[in-house]
Amino acid sequence: MGPILMVMENGEAGFTDSSKELVAKARELADTLGTSSVAVGFGPDAESHLRHLPVDRGIAVSNPELSQYNPLAYEKALSKILEDNQPFLTLIPNTTMGMDLGAGVAARRSLPLVAYCSELTVEGRDVVATSQVFAGKLMAEIALPESGAVITVVPGAWSIDTGSGDPEVSVTSVEISQAMNILQTIEPEKGDVDITKADILISVGRGIESPDNLPMAEELAEAIGGVVSCSRPVVDAGWLPKARQVGKSGQTVKPKLYMAFGISGAPEHQQGMRDADLIIAVNTDENASIMDIAHYGTTVDMLELMPALTERLRGE
Ligand SMILES: Cc1cc2nc3c(=O)[nH]c(=O)nc-3n(C[C@H](O)[C@H](O)[C@H](O)COP(=O)(O)OP(=O)(O)OC[C@H]3O[C@@H](n4cnc5c(N)ncnc54)[C@H](O)[C@@H]3O)c2cc1C
Repeated sequence: MGPILMVMENGEAGFTDSSKELVAKARELADTLGTSSVAVGFGPDAESHLRHLPVDRGIAVSNPELSQYNPLAYEKALSKILEDNQPFLTLIPNTTMGMDLGAGVAARRSLPLVAYCSELTVEGRDVVATSQVFAGKLMAEIALPESGAVITVVPGAWSIDTGSGDPEVSVTSVEISQAMNILQTIEPEKGDVDITKADILISVGRGIESPDNLPMAEELAEAIGGVVSCSRPVVDAGWLPKARQVGKSGQTVKPKLYMAFGISGAPEHQQGMRDADLIIAVNTDENASIMDIAHYGTTVDMLELMPALTERLRGE
């Protein structure tokens, strides 16, 4: 059986979290299936980053230009690696890069592709992928063919393996065609706070009703030592910046405490917060979907509860 191969995406400091999330799962699958785990990295620093990963083997495509994603070169290099290694599965983060690369390499090598994968399980000798379809409203279970499928995995699906290893890393390079040149990378505007790093999030949805009520959330966040985040309608209304948005088209967060005030819990929102350690939902509708994933819920009016909680926390 071929190895479980994973593609590591470059971030600001080493590999991104969404690619590190692939590592433990790849090793678990490799152990269960009796094969090895192989990580592929791109760019001049890939070799040194791969040397610390807890995997069996690393492959670094070391061209200096490839620290940034280049669709044609990545696809060409990965295609050759798949040809040489014949992996049983290839895991790629389901990010902007991964969706492009996964589809491209699967088409180039006529391999099956499963996108938006949130789980992989082994049933006997079969591997079954769970894929979020229709924006997460349905979960499709897909029995994978015997070998070769390319899987793009949604960020946040698995935990990061914090261990380190000392794998053997082979270094290769690819001839880069001039058909496509990256002229400039434009980073999205950075927000004032990084909600992905906060331990406590006071998250507000359409139930906040008006921007005039936002100070209530900010005061509560300050009193509890947290940060204000929100659902998409609050950003669409221009009440909070995009950097505060949790969900499919916003940020994926895993705080210790996520308090959802006036958020219905649409699948697109849940996608960004369902792995929080503790979820408390405040929603006047007891049938709101957020109640299905909340550890605790209350149907109290958020506009009354927020100031009351702040008062209590301040000991007033
Ligand atoms: C491609 C795509 C991507 C998307 N990406 C995202 C995303 O990243 N993040 C995101 O959040 N959404 C996203 N959405 C939108 C998503 O589908 C929902 O429309 C959105 O999450 C709903 O936001 P909400 O829960 O704040 O509003 P609503 O669904 O309107 O819910 C408001 C809730 O507040 C409750 N409420 C009202 N008043 C009070 C009160 N006084 N006290 C307590 N509760 C009260 C109501 O009972 C209701 O449940 C996306 C949609 C699409 C199609």
